[in-house]
Amino acid sequence: MTPNPSRFAHFIERFTAVIDEAGGDEPAILAAGRPLLQALVSHDDWLPEACAQPDTQYYQQYLLHADPQDRFSVVSFVWGPGQKTPVHNHTVWALIGMMRGAERGERFALGAPGQPMVAQGVDVLQPGDVDMVSPRLGDIHRVSNVHDRVSISVHVYGGNIGRISRHVFDASNGTTKTFVSGYSNDRASAHRAA
Ligand code: FE
Repeated sequence: MTPNPSRFAHFIERFTAVIDEAGGDEPAILAAGRPLLQALVSHDDWLPEACAQPDTQYYQQYLLHADPQDRFSVVSFVWGPGQKTPVHNHTVWALIGMMRGAERGERFALGAPGQPMVAQGVDVLQPGDVDMVSPRLGDIHRVSNVHDRVSISVHVYGGNIGRISRHVFDASNGTTKTFVSGYSNDRASAHRAA
């Protein structure tokens, strides 16, 4: 495999142009951004090895690009065998592109107060597939690795997602906890600094 970092640079250039042009119009951003992400994740030859490293315990989220004006961010999600997220939301739009392996996304809606959350369906993403979430389209899901080996997806979010205060949910009763995800590269540099 020949490393091709220019593919990602080209993606960022074009995605930034979409954001410049759309001026906060979410449907326009998603419509124009989706084929760009689809083209990016249809090629598995550009992701730096450092941002493709699994952890034995936790799924990893590596920041690949942060827009200087915090209008969007791009993250690689690296899933080890059996790893999954809690039920969570985003509060901003997101495009989820599958690059290596496969992941399962289970969508949820809040039920009546104190009642179990309501399953809205399951999607399995294969390499080249792109899914979307947002407060407008449905923002709550739980994501897991389908395989007993590493899977990798590339996510684009409508903000600096690692810095945004959002929620995890208890699916049995809809109660929430606030969290800020951060980035796995933060933790790596924190370790080096310590
Ligand atoms: Fe998510």
